[in-house]
Amino acid sequence: MKQTVRLFLIIVILIAAVKSSNSTIACSYNYQVLSLRELSSPKRIILHPLGNGINKVIIDKCYSQIKKYLPNTILADRLMMPASTYYKPRNRYRADSLIKWMSARAKKNEVIMGITTVDISTTKGKHKDWGVMGLAYKPGNAGVASNYRLKNKSAFWKIVIHELGHTAGLPHCPVKTCFMRDAEGGDHTGEEKEFCSKCKKFLLNNGWLL
Ligand SMILES: [Zn+2]
Ligand SMILES: [Zn+2]
Repeated sequence: MKQTVRLFLIIVILIAAVKSSNSTIACSYNYQVLSLRELSSPKRIILHPLGNGINKVIIDKCYSQIKKYLPNTILADRLMMPASTYYKPRNRYRADSLIKWMSARAKKNEVIMGITTVDISTTKGKHKDWGVMGLAYKPGNAGVASNYRLKNKSAFWKIVIHELGHTAGLPHCPVKTCFMRDAEGGDHTGEEKEFCSKCKKFLLNNGWLL
């Protein structure tokens, strides 16, 4: 009888041990369901609206377009223009200071892309303060695009995609219909239709969807 009780106790202890080890192993996880193509995107793009002027229509258009090429894109909260980037003599913001500021905020494997409606500028050759539509590190973790100088505002996403191309490491491209065409002080977004085959190949190798 005593032996039966002992055996019963051993079985109970064993079941308890198995249950307790299971509960340790069976943690709960939050899964983010990503497709195979999304998994191949090496970097997370953080799209950051900058300043009060940028509205939901502009933000949503940029976000939906960029997501087609870079599914691993997240729309972040609006940020105010940092006062340290303001250039009083021309009443505009320094794009070079902006990308430096965003670069310092970017985490590992992130690219912060600022989008704004205010005028931005940088130093270009002998021009101390030259108005631009965008600026980005090549390659790097930050870029900024402005629609201020753009005639056709609905093409703004092309400026954003161009700057993101730079962050991936692409230089300017001589193909007139390519998104990586150099603006050269003008607005050629009406002629830009897609990435050319050479730029496409480069971006495909960097996890873009094309
Ligand atoms: Zn460029
Ligand atoms: Zn190209």
